[in-house]
Amino acid sequence: MVANKFSLQFAQELDQKDPLKEYRNRFFIPQHNGQDTVYFTGNSLGLQPKKVKDYIQAELDDWAKFGVEGHFEAKKPWFAYHEFLTEKAAKIVGAKNSEVVITHSLTTNLHLLMVSFYRPSKTRYKILCEKKAFPSDQYALESQVKFHGYDPKDAMIEIEPRHGEHTINDQDILDTISKFGNEIAMVMIGGVNYYTGQLFDMKSITEAGHNVGAVVGFDLAHAAGNVKLNLHDWQVDFAAWCSYKYLNSSPGGVSGMFVHENHENKPEIPRFAGWWGHNKSVRFLMEPGFKPMPGAEGWQLSNAPVLGMAAHLASLDIFAEVGMDKLIEKRIQLTNYLEEIIQDISAKHTDKCQFEIITPKEEKRRGAQLSILVHGKGKPLFDKLTEQGVIADWREPNVIRIAPVPLYNSFEDVYRFGVALENAIG
Ligand SMILES: *Cc1c(COP(=O)(O)O)cnc(C)c1O
Repeated sequence: MVANKFSLQFAQELDQKDPLKEYRNRFFIPQHNGQDTVYFTGNSLGLQPKKVKDYIQAELDDWAKFGVEGHFEAKKPWFAYHEFLTEKAAKIVGAKNSEVVITHSLTTNLHLLMVSFYRPSKTRYKILCEKKAFPSDQYALESQVKFHGYDPKDAMIEIEPRHGEHTINDQDILDTISKFGNEIAMVMIGGVNYYTGQLFDMKSITEAGHNVGAVVGFDLAHAAGNVKLNLHDWQVDFAAWCSYKYLNSSPGGVSGMFVHENHENKPEIPRFAGWWGHNKSVRFLMEPGFKPMPGAEGWQLSNAPVLGMAAHLASLDIFAEVGMDKLIEKRIQLTNYLEEIIQDISAKHTDKCQFEIITPKEEKRRGAQLSILVHGKGKPLFDKLTEQGVIADWREPNVIRIAPVPLYNSFEDVYRFGVALENAIG
């Protein structure tokens, strides 16, 4: 690396040239000793857009003014509130509007989708997933398997990195799918692995799954708002994501659900039903006999939690304004810059400490996140980062996860992270 790249001046010049630099001002940046923190945990909880308050206040005002009549009289009638979010969310995941609905929470949605799409039989009941998936996904998958009377030890095929490697070989996924072939009922993988930051080739995985007759779904918690998604074109059967990571929509915020058009207008698909998935033109007739809405909306159970949805809408409006393409362009630059600085520091201090970035190097195999394996120093080094106003994420036994987020992180943040890291090495 050119020596002067790791300088405040160089970083500030990059910020000056950044067409998205103004967006940082749209967010509240947590403070540390009167200064902006280096907030690199947007992959865990995105920052609060300053406008969120106005969006929520508008609904509080309409609630005060109209009471129950707000369902129809509110400026954005609550009866159809989720519809205000659909198109913007659909753009982020590369879907048609009818394929997306914003509702419930992530793990709930995964279960609801698996109830419909994991339909094991005596000969075809296996689930192919990644080893070390996010714990909630592991629990959800195992409980689905048990619910159908199978043994997770037998039914779950977990793909893991080859010996001595940290990330999963893409070809190994495809080969395992062909190997187990018609034993696989469902392929369910996280689009971006939460621990290593590895981005999977969802298009090829979907194709391979379909070739053996399996359904294919993805958990996009770490992918939505981070990487390019084309769920419709890739023919993905189903997907779900949360809105509070890269999508900045409040802790525990609402989730998104995708069901491919191929499964639209099929009321015969088994599902757990609730009144909000019922044909909306007759919903309030409260008649017996569930008639699902066509498309993803037919998987809704409950009426919209409007306050949480308002927070999500505030953020989606920013995404709609910027567009994923520009965000991705900046994200690549930011993450590459961060990688260079870490490697530069690591090379300078091999005597004291070594950093190994376990996230794939190739642009198409990662998003914003870098996961650093800290050899030689562990938690104390992380604590020293925290003392200097860096907010990062520590995972036992020795991994630091950091994610510079293109909407609000700057190149100067990356520089300041480098300075803090060098200080922390001591
Ligand atoms: C963050 C995350 C979750 C969290 O699920 P909730 O239902 O929102 O608590 C689940 N799965 C993955 C892969 C995640 O990254």
